[in-house]
Amino acid sequence: MHIVIAQMSHETNTFSPVVSDLARFSPGGSGNPMEGDAVKDVFRGTASCMGGYLAVAEATGADITIPVVAGAPPSGPVEDHAYEYIAAKIVQAAADGCDALFLDLHGAMVTRTVEDGEGELLRCIRQVNPDVPIAVALDMHANLYDDIVGLSTVIAGYHTYPHIDMYETAELAGRILVDHIQKGVMPTMAWGNNPMLPHIMRQGTDDLPNRALQERAMEMEREGALAVSLFTGFPHADISQAGLSVVVATDNDPDLAVKLRDELLDQAWIDRERFVYRLEPLEVSVTRAKQLGDQPSSDGPVLILDHYDNTASGGTMDTTNVLAEVLKQGIDDVAFCGIFDPEAVECLYSSGVGSEVTVPLGGRLPMPALRRQSRPLEVSGRVKCLTDGRFETSIAMGRGLMTDMGKTAVLSVGSVDIMVISRHFEPVDPGCFRSVGIEPTERRFLMLKSRIHYRVGFRDLAREVVECAGLGVCTSDYSEISFENVRRPIYPLDEIKMRN
Ligand SMILES: [Zn+2]
Repeated sequence: MHIVIAQMSHETNTFSPVVSDLARFSPGGSGNPMEGDAVKDVFRGTASCMGGYLAVAEATGADITIPVVAGAPPSGPVEDHAYEYIAAKIVQAAADGCDALFLDLHGAMVTRTVEDGEGELLRCIRQVNPDVPIAVALDMHANLYDDIVGLSTVIAGYHTYPHIDMYETAELAGRILVDHIQKGVMPTMAWGNNPMLPHIMRQGTDDLPNRALQERAMEMEREGALAVSLFTGFPHADISQAGLSVVVATDNDPDLAVKLRDELLDQAWIDRERFVYRLEPLEVSVTRAKQLGDQPSSDGPVLILDHYDNTASGGTMDTTNVLAEVLKQGIDDVAFCGIFDPEAVECLYSSGVGSEVTVPLGGRLPMPALRRQSRPLEVSGRVKCLTDGRFETSIAMGRGLMTDMGKTAVLSVGSVDIMVISRHFEPVDPGCFRSVGIEPTERRFLMLKSRIHYRVGFRDLAREVVECAGLGVCTSDYSEISFENVRRPIYPLDEIKMRN
């Protein structure tokens, strides 16, 4: 058997000003995306979709071709040249012929010209190879379209957020496809969506309602469905089909697929209000964090969550208002990861460790889609540490892969240690602090630009988490951005009495 495995993965925040060019999909942020046999050694055994697909393909003894592995941190619409480069690699491999395609997609890719990046890829593949079986692994934040379902053979989506089952998801999709080829299993899919945009901050699978929804989906799989996926969707995409959807694959049982799909959609609709995020003013949250930190405790740091500016939702990672409020309220003993500001990093590098500097931090990237703008924050401090910003991920999400923060500096402003980085990433692994000589468990406060994924590595070591409504293009306040293309009415932008 000859299997083509490829990745084209991007969660597009259509409100983000961060450019999604080919370099962003490339290792180290320059050159072209990875391809070829060398990729196997990078991903084999890692907690990733590529890791899961490789395990299935290698277990079958198949010949494996890897035309491209292109994943980028979430950001603005994908530039056409980048999309065309990546898609052409996969389409060419499909045209050259193979017995199966294993695709590691995201499901929320938007390009400058196409709002359904994954559907467009599948349309192009089907033009050159109408019949090849295709397995698709999707992120829970997929915004599903007809062609993603109609043109693939089987789809499986994550059941966890934070995403700690990427390997298992791809393994499931790949195994179903192999069973289709070798044992005659006949995946039959039904999909549908609800007119609802669940808030990201309410989508975590530690919490209700999503925990129960995903548990039910997994139960359906144990009871005989091939793959049951409930996508909470990615709301920061102003496209027609953004929002919650379900796809169910059964073994040649279309009625069961429809029945299970409807059960999940109906339950999600009943739960819609629990997916709404309740806001607290920033000053109130920071004051609350300060009070919590003032209480003597040996149960670990208080975690201040700057969740409006999360890289893994397309944030610029350079807004400064939560940091400004922390400094203004005099919170001390803080380790903060971090601010994306390559210019500041260069300045700190040229100053050298131990030097005293005054530097404007962040606030460099205009955010035209947002009603408020970030400003640089001038701070004075001492350069504490300089590193290349690379460390090996050791948590359940991406274990074994390298995290690359780019050239990194730590600037100490009083007892607030600010990590200043040169590549976008979401701080989810305590290794980000340890790589710059900071032991996170010993600090009174940790501050992270993250939303839900921080839970994988930080939830257990923090005694309290205070969510702070900062500033950024992944704002949890929908009134700060304009939705013009999403289908209406849609909850909670509109009040809807009945779903249909
Ligand atoms: Zn996701």
